[in-house]
Amino acid sequence: MTEKFDGNFTQQEPIPEEAIQAAVEVMRSGRLHRYNVAPGELGETALLEREFARAVGAKYCLAVASGGYALATALRALGVGPGDAVLSNAFTLAPVPGAIAGLGAVPVLVEVTERLVIDLDDLQRRIADSGARVLLLSHMRGHICDMDALMAICDAAGVRVVEDCAHTMGAFWRATPSGRHGVIGCYSTQTYKHLNSGEGGLLVTDDAEAMARAVMLSGSYMLYGRHAAAPPGEVFDRIKYDTPNISGRMDNLRAAILRVQLRTLAQRCADWNARYRVVEDGLRGVAGIELIERAREETYVGSSIQFRLSGRSGKDIGAFVARCAARGVELKWFGGAEPVGFTSRYDSWRYFESPRMARTEAALAGLVDMRLPLTFSLDDCALIARIIASEAARPPAA
Ligand SMILES: *Cc1c(COP(=O)(O)O)cnc(C)c1O
Repeated sequence: MTEKFDGNFTQQEPIPEEAIQAAVEVMRSGRLHRYNVAPGELGETALLEREFARAVGAKYCLAVASGGYALATALRALGVGPGDAVLSNAFTLAPVPGAIAGLGAVPVLVEVTERLVIDLDDLQRRIADSGARVLLLSHMRGHICDMDALMAICDAAGVRVVEDCAHTMGAFWRATPSGRHGVIGCYSTQTYKHLNSGEGGLLVTDDAEAMARAVMLSGSYMLYGRHAAAPPGEVFDRIKYDTPNISGRMDNLRAAILRVQLRTLAQRCADWNARYRVVEDGLRGVAGIELIERAREETYVGSSIQFRLSGRSGKDIGAFVARCAARGVELKWFGGAEPVGFTSRYDSWRYFESPRMARTEAALAGLVDMRLPLTFSLDDCALIARIIASEAARPPAA
């Protein structure tokens, strides 16, 4: 009998009842705007910022409207402006180069390795060639590069690092949370990430002036005193007249449901990893399937899994993906010629010039990606792995 899977790869868990209650309270109060608080009261958004800052060990935190907005705000807060070169890894999601281009700045892409992390030798070359002073490092699909080596290179070259942690909220490199190596860490709370508020983003830093600018940029007017994880007023006094308001605040409704979810983030990360391990174990040793090795120092969150089909033509891989789809297993092939769904290939971003990225193309050519929503059981994951393994074992089509 041919096994089939009938789960849904984009079905998230429901919002917890307690979070729904918290959201209802906010709606009953009518005070959805983050600054609409009684004197001395801390609203849900300010409380979320305080709690998230504590969770990652940051001095300051700002909640905003989306992950992409957090990235753009981080760059602006560091003074990136029109014409400035900003480095980023070539394998990432569209909002990353978009955040750079949105400022009128110029993305300078850096190759990625077969382990799907930034190529540190290429990074050094591109720092030298471009003169860029900022790296927007995307931990794409949760793969974390050697952060010690990366920070040593960037510190020596005077390059400031902004981390895109859309896929690494809850992850670590050694004992340091992802997002806490560079000067600013950015997270997304969009539905498909590790916390779910539909849309939303978080930005953390220990840099008082960068945070004061980010708060003003996000649209605080002169109400920044109502934050609980922002620097003191005198820091704002230095920047408040020359920082524009580019509204992108979070609201209390979304913050309320995030606060409840944040309390169980570590458990949810463990649940993702349990699923990841079942799929990985099921694919290990299967002929033609190459798993992506991970560094020992990396504590990742397996909310998605990637593997490579080795020694297959594009046509074969396309046929493999189609056969898996016919059996209910939804895979994304990063080597496909045309962008589909969420785009992650540098050559589909044609609004800026980039040289060919030969190493990145080779890394993506046979690369397949699969989401692992928490609505899947461990048995579901074992079934999915069996389907993938059996389809990978079929000989290439004539
Ligand atoms: C989702 C995502 C973002 C941005 O998130 P939004 O909240 O959707 O703007 C940034 N980087 C990566 C790698 C992402 O997957």
